[in-house]
Amino acid sequence: MARRRMVYEGKAKILYEGPEPDTMVQYFKDDATAFNAEKKDVIEGKGALNNRLSEHFMSGLNTIGVPTHFIKRLNMREQLIRTCEMIPLEVVVRNVAAGTMSTRLGIEEGTPLPRPIIEFYLKDDALSDPIVSEEHIIAFSWASQQDVDDMIALALRVNDFMSGMMLGVGIRLVDFKIEIGRVFDGDFQRLIVADEISPDSCRLWDVETGEKLDKDVFRRDLGSLADAYTEVAKRLGILPKGGNGTGPKLVH
Ligand code: UDP
Repeated sequence: MARRRMVYEGKAKILYEGPEPDTMVQYFKDDATAFNAEKKDVIEGKGALNNRLSEHFMSGLNTIGVPTHFIKRLNMREQLIRTCEMIPLEVVVRNVAAGTMSTRLGIEEGTPLPRPIIEFYLKDDALSDPIVSEEHIIAFSWASQQDVDDMIALALRVNDFMSGMMLGVGIRLVDFKIEIGRVFDGDFQRLIVADEISPDSCRLWDVETGEKLDKDVFRRDLGSLADAYTEVAKRLGILPKGGNGTGPKLVH
């Protein structure tokens, strides 16, 4: 079979042309980056874990009627997705203060927020993804007022679904980032959740111990990132819960 045409290569994923119109293949790399790619490493197994985890979250969202780009998983590292026109924003939802919100506003990490707080960041590596307001988004036509309202509604539904699923396995969803795209049915436009949902883009803390089970393990050198993501996958029933090395192993 001829090699597929690459459409885009990002820090953690590659997009290839899909087998049918309006589809693409999303490939999950093992590369980990943080601080706008100033810190880099290759974490064996991360791509396969994020492929499975993103499949789990996105297919769950599809089932409850929150539209996503996910169609099906193809193999250990690839999934078939629906092509969409990406809105150039990162949408962050926060339930507990952490990360840049804590540093920017001087709120101690771990402080529960009075309500979920949504923030928008402009996707622009050269500017280190600056935080932007709704005013900026509309004035500069990155999205319309209707889009902003729809993005907020979508983000809150994702938050409720993900918070519930995580709490069920003893994990607090502290915050997360999603990216949103447009699909067109004739003249009609719809917004769908795109990109990925994985521990690369969430903060996940064990409810009992506060242990971090997300990319902060890499950002802050707290131990093995693959072990943390494996723990999340095991709790969600995606990988067998069995002991060390006795059960089936991820292959690449
Ligand atoms: N996040 C992300 N990609 C980014 C920036 C943030 O996935 O480029 C996620 C991050 O993992 C966290 C949430 O968005 O779950 C909020 O991140 P924050 O603004 O605290 O920035 P960070 O500390 O991650 O740089």
